[in-house]
Amino acid sequence: MKAVMYHYIREYNSQLPFFRFLDIKNFKKQLDFFEAEYGFVSKAEWLQLINRKRLGGTEGKVLLTFDDAMSCHYDYAFQELKKRGLWGIFYVPTQPYQKDKFLDVHRIHLLCGAFKSQELLMILKMLLDESMIPDEKIIEFREQTYSKQENYEGVSEFKRILNYFVSYEFRERLIDAVATELDFLFKVSEFYVPVEKLKEMHTNGNLIGSHTISHLVMSKLSDMDQRIEIKDSFDFLGTNVCDDVKTYCHPYGGFHSFNQTTVDTLNSSNVQFSFNVESRDICDEDLISSIQFLPRYNCNEFPFGKASGLK
Ligand SMILES: [Zn+2]
Repeated sequence: MKAVMYHYIREYNSQLPFFRFLDIKNFKKQLDFFEAEYGFVSKAEWLQLINRKRLGGTEGKVLLTFDDAMSCHYDYAFQELKKRGLWGIFYVPTQPYQKDKFLDVHRIHLLCGAFKSQELLMILKMLLDESMIPDEKIIEFREQTYSKQENYEGVSEFKRILNYFVSYEFRERLIDAVATELDFLFKVSEFYVPVEKLKEMHTNGNLIGSHTISHLVMSKLSDMDQRIEIKDSFDFLGTNVCDDVKTYCHPYGGFHSFNQTTVDTLNSSNVQFSFNVESRDICDEDLISSIQFLPRYNCNEFPFGKASGLK
């Protein structure tokens, strides 16, 4: 079986000329392709195979998953699924709801969508101080950011500095400062699917799962912080959206992004299944040994799945 991951699905917006997203037209074409080529696993089949720990007759089918609860998941993805009688699993980071606060990962996407990479990088470098980089990364940072400067395209370097090099404690303020410098406002209420609409999506046959509270690289957090991220996000969803099926998805994905503490916490929290990002089919064995990190493809690995956008 193939689980497929989606992020932004929308139309071109002239206010975000460099934004990368899957155009809704291509999403529809990709669904047509999956339908013709593989067929979709139904929710009943999926829940049954999770219980039985055997794929049964669903080996060749496709399961759709959507990460980060951006408003386009309601406006475009959900509407299209509904029209076709399909369902999906939507993974929600709960910080925007619990704290009315944007996730930094999305603020970085928006800045990169709105401004030229060279401009972003120039401002970031002006604001950046080496004390914001942890000791263990400082040598790598100097080598990569200064000496090999010409090898880096601006946008990837901008993202890499904020996502990889800068300590989490400084990141938020740095992004604030870059945005202020550019007069850019983040509107949290417009960016994410409101709770009422998450409930509507759930009522219409979709599953809503946890994607932590604050969408950080879990393997970088203490055991205690990881437990809070998992437990509190499920508590929020259980109280405010739904509590029928407990499912989770690792922020960023990949085996570096979580560790044994993450997996142990998911198991002890009775999470039924979780998704990672790994380019291969789900097989019977995964339902036993990899149930908290099931493999999942990026949509761009299939026809019509490439992101639009100028960069
Ligand atoms: Zn995510």
